[in-house]
Amino acid sequence: MTSKIQIHHEADVMVITVNNPPINAGSTEVRKGLLDAIHLFQDDANLAAAIIIGGGSTFIAGSDIKEFSQPLAEPHLPSVIAAIEDCPKVVICALHGAALGGGFELALGCDARIALEGTVVGLPEVTLGIIPGAGGTQRLPRLIGIEKSIEFICGGVRIKAVEALKLGIIDKLVTEDLLANAVIYARSLIGKKSRIRDIAAPHAEADVILAASQKALKVGKQRPNVHQAIKMITNVMTMSIDQGLATEREVFQTLRVGTEAKALRHQFFAERKLFKALGNKESKPKDLKRIAIIGAGTMGSGIAIACLSAGYSVLMLDQNETALQNGVKKISDFYDARVAGGKMAADNLTTLLNRFTSSSEWSDIASADLVIEAVFEDMQVKHAVFEQIDTHANPQALLASNTSYLDIDAIAAKTKNPSRVFGLHFFSPAQVMKLIEIVRCKASDPSVIEAALQFTKRLGKTPVISANAFGFIGNRIYNAYRRQCEFMLEEGAYPEQIDQALEGYGFAMGPFAVADMSGLDIAWAMRKSLAATRNPDHRYVSIPDALCLAGRFGRKTGSGYYLYPQGAKSGVVDPVVKGVIDEASAAKGITRRSFTAQEIVQRVLLAMMNEIAHLVSEKVVGDVTDCDVALVNGYGFPRWCGGPVFIAREMGMEKLRSEMDALAKWSGPGFVKAELSGLFETHGSE
Ligand code: NAD
Repeated sequence: MTSKIQIHHEADVMVITVNNPPINAGSTEVRKGLLDAIHLFQDDANLAAAIIIGGGSTFIAGSDIKEFSQPLAEPHLPSVIAAIEDCPKVVICALHGAALGGGFELALGCDARIALEGTVVGLPEVTLGIIPGAGGTQRLPRLIGIEKSIEFICGGVRIKAVEALKLGIIDKLVTEDLLANAVIYARSLIGKKSRIRDIAAPHAEADVILAASQKALKVGKQRPNVHQAIKMITNVMTMSIDQGLATEREVFQTLRVGTEAKALRHQFFAERKLFKALGNKESKPKDLKRIAIIGAGTMGSGIAIACLSAGYSVLMLDQNETALQNGVKKISDFYDARVAGGKMAADNLTTLLNRFTSSSEWSDIASADLVIEAVFEDMQVKHAVFEQIDTHANPQALLASNTSYLDIDAIAAKTKNPSRVFGLHFFSPAQVMKLIEIVRCKASDPSVIEAALQFTKRLGKTPVISANAFGFIGNRIYNAYRRQCEFMLEEGAYPEQIDQALEGYGFAMGPFAVADMSGLDIAWAMRKSLAATRNPDHRYVSIPDALCLAGRFGRKTGSGYYLYPQGAKSGVVDPVVKGVIDEASAAKGITRRSFTAQEIVQRVLLAMMNEIAHLVSEKVVGDVTDCDVALVNGYGFPRWCGGPVFIAREMGMEKLRSEMDALAKWSGPGFVKAELSGLFETHGSE
């Protein structure tokens, strides 16, 4: 036995309790302890049944992912499950909290499953670049068929206990006293060994499999492990269970040590650590209940939806009555669509809307615990709005700005108490995008930042903490990325070629399609405002200016980097743009050359790495892996590639240095090589 497993006897029933807090992760110690316990149970003639149960708040909510980066120590989970199946006496699982991944596979290896109401079960392995490796793809189809298994396993779906009962995944559902009920249930099964491996293999028609697979591959972004998961599930129809299990294990082991799985584990740990600091501080963060949002535009209404959906009371204020009404309509349209689409019950909508008010009276913000400003991106407007907020908000309330680029310290300085001011940089659409940059100002009190973290957690978002610096973290990296793409335009590539290369790599959208979508005029205005202070010796690409001068502001004007004929879903290549680009190259005396997709991607990645290293040196970012989190959750960077920091570490310093030297040459004057060692700094979390 190990310290992670305790056993006791309830007369003729052995109770095996897993105690590996906080989530009872299936580690080597847990597996070893379970195996020992099963052997003890088998050998004890006084015992007729056994129950495996989780101590604390959950069953085994997953495997210890840290172990996945090394050779797995014996015993492996399949050996534990084999011992349960080979044991002539009944072993059942009693589930509460979550039974996920290896925990759920263990449950599927038992003779029956009893669960407490509220339990969730599932196989989320695909989200980590692998497949279930302990029989999940072989046993689940024998219970629920091929089609549903493809949906659940390839989607990493968490199945609620009520549905799991209906599907026959669990056998009994109880509302209380899990252990006592499990003992009664186990006794009722004495002598009735019932293994999933003995259930006849299911069959599905080819067209059903094809439809389910296509859906799953779309959700799973065509990743190789999703293809493999489908293959393993369908193997059930042609292979014996032992053949199927052996094949599954082999594929699992190969995927586990592959780069994609490693990249996804890197993201997993980088995201998980963001909330780790929560609750460890001496200062007690303010409990937020009522949120006031100033500005009912694109961002204000999106933020209101995010807050309402998370259960907060929301007041939305705008000085302009029409803008306010438009914002209110956007919110009600959003929820009406959810009700119409069956994603929300009509009763719940009524309750939700009871928590929502709109107003143009500043005095109404007095009851808010947190005020989020989302008005025009203009320092004078921000100052005027913060003056009103300072006058009318509760002196204890926290005050946040959603500015994208403005100096929040300067905004805070105009308030009576700057220690309660910070940045909350949401991304558009705010109700959808996961990323939020929490901007720590010079005067921000630590308890304010902790309250902000708790707030973002409740919204279900992914926060990164940034210092107050131009563009914070994400936009700084994105600007360097876009600049590098513009360099390549000038050197010989065309927008569609760059977009295709980056979309082929896995970006949600290429940079020029993104620029057309968000509008070229905003960046143009910014460039014009910075023109006087720009160093004339630095390389400056004039192509975007030329497009703007021609009135091509992107989608909204029907043309930008692409042409948008009426009704077109995406842009089409425009020879006029080619002409503008060729002209720009010629004006600088550049002989245009061809680019491979690989070179385009490499230059983009290096440009990002360099900017990230600058952010570390300038102390804008605390933990360098936060940059990967920001790019994946806010900028469409492919999660399975891990992020520029992960990729830099895989390259190693020597290769990185020489490639960066080459990038510096290509980029020309104005490109400042950063001290790259910052990319390799770890904070004890990996
Ligand atoms: P928007 O133009 O859609 O909305 C701004 C709203 O603020 C308007 O409804 C306007 O009536 C209101 N407003 C202006 N002055 C006001 C005042 N004195 N009092 C009350 N209301 C006032 O702008 P947006 O796109 O929602 O951007 C808002 C903020 O969010 C900006 O700081 C912007 O930089 C930032 N931001 C925007 C995006 C984006 O993609 N749109 C993303 C992140 C952050």
